Amino acid sequence: MGGQSWQIGRVYGIPLRVHISWFLVFALVTWSLARHYFPAVLSHRLPWQYWSLGVVAALLLFASVLVHELGHCLVALRYRVPIAQITLFIFGGMAQIKREAPTPKAEFLIAIAGPIVSIMLGLGFWVLAELPGAPPALVALSEHLRNINLVLAIFNLVPGYPLDGGRVLRAGLWAWSKNFHKATRYSARVGQGFAVLLMLFGVYDVVAGLAIGGVWFLLIGAFLYTAAHSTHRQVSFQESLTGLCVGDVMTTDVVALEAGLTLDEAVNNYFLRFGFGGFPVVNEGRLVGMLSLKELKAIPRERWSALTVGEAMVPHGYQTEIHPDEPITAAMERMFHDDRGRLVVMEDGKVLGLVTRSGIARFLDLRQR
Ligand SMILES: [Zn+2]
Repeated sequence: MGGQSWQIGRVYGIPLRVHISWFLVFALVTWSLARHYFPAVLSHRLPWQYWSLGVVAALLLFASVLVHELGHCLVALRYRVPIAQITLFIFGGMAQIKREAPTPKAEFLIAIAGPIVSIMLGLGFWVLAELPGAPPALVALSEHLRNINLVLAIFNLVPGYPLDGGRVLRAGLWAWSKNFHKATRYSARVGQGFAVLLMLFGVYDVVAGLAIGGVWFLLIGAFLYTAAHSTHRQVSFQESLTGLCVGDVMTTDVVALEAGLTLDEAVNNYFLRFGFGGFPVVNEGRLVGMLSLKELKAIPRERWSALTVGEAMVPHGYQTEIHPDEPITAAMERMFHDDRGRLVVMEDGKVLGLVTRSGIARFLDLRQR
């Protein structure tokens, strides 16, 4: 979801943001209620009354979506799953959790909380609409919000990830198969299937001449498809990494630089010749550091003949080495965190090889074929 969003406050310490696309929905909802819904169900009112009701209804829709998301968040916080933020955007709300639920039960309860809140809101507005002696404007408003909240609950209960129902499905599959990745992959596939159905429905609507509704289904379908697809890919990627160690993916034919070489010599005889992005540096057979293109680029070219590799390198330290038995994800995290392209694989003070970002990418690429 690109584009601007603004933080409008905090609820239970969770930043609440509104995405720019939400204002479009707000305007559309207000307009269609003020021009179509309220004039149809309430006769003999002035335009400003219809518009006021439209604005109130749109604000209550905003509140309903927010309360739905808060339902997810409160259960998540009970399970100590931190929430990054709640964002309201064109297709509703989204509570971004910082990490996955610890157990299938927690996943289930976090997912189901939102639709339960929407159903309760729907029932509440239903009661309000049926109150004896309720003014017609309140009845019209309540009936609309009853419908909206019930539709919100039902739509979200569709068992396709990333919808709430898809998370419920994932919780069930996870409990049953004991395999989180498999459960995610399966429910994301169902989510993609549902998204395709929505888009087909949208195309049918457009062809049948119901343009606005059709375009809307197409957009929601496309959004859900993208979300489910990227989840599916992410999980496949994580799965392909599990069980792999640094030792499995390291390169063992290590070419090292002597600390006494000038940078000119290093560039001409090593960087250009081998095409690697960096080399370990040795002095009298002992590993002393690492020299990569990143360090070279920071030094003006005219100084390359005067400076030695030993003077320009990053000295060797705990941060640049890794044990061959460490999981590959640990190596990737470390490289990402320190913005390094490579780590030296060492065991008992001996250099065994190098693990590099491009090496890992190549390895995975070959494995997935
Ligand atoms: Zn939800």
